[in-house]
Amino acid sequence: MKDQSNKDSVYKKVGVSPGEKLPAYTQIGCYNILYITNRNSVICSDCANDCVSKTAKGELSDIVIDADVYLEGHNVYCEHCGMIIESSYD
Ligand SMILES: [Zn+2]
Repeated sequence: MKDQSNKDSVYKKVGVSPGEKLPAYTQIGCYNILYITNRNSVICSDCANDCVSKTAKGELSDIVIDADVYLEGHNVYCEHCGMIIESSYD
């Protein structure tokens, strides 16, 4: 299924196994990671994990479809909880 492979590629991208908690930082270099949902929202790792567990329970939720290392730029606000996600370099 396409959804499944998308989901697995997010895990692969952030260096954890499917089912593990999505990290806030990369293991190497400790760079901040942003998560992107099927609605094109940018969210923090806490909210991404929330989405994943809701989706797993069959609850209605945004689906995490991508992850990106956030290296430089203005601070980004998580579109779900409003937390500031800082760029890795100021
Ligand atoms: Zn959040």
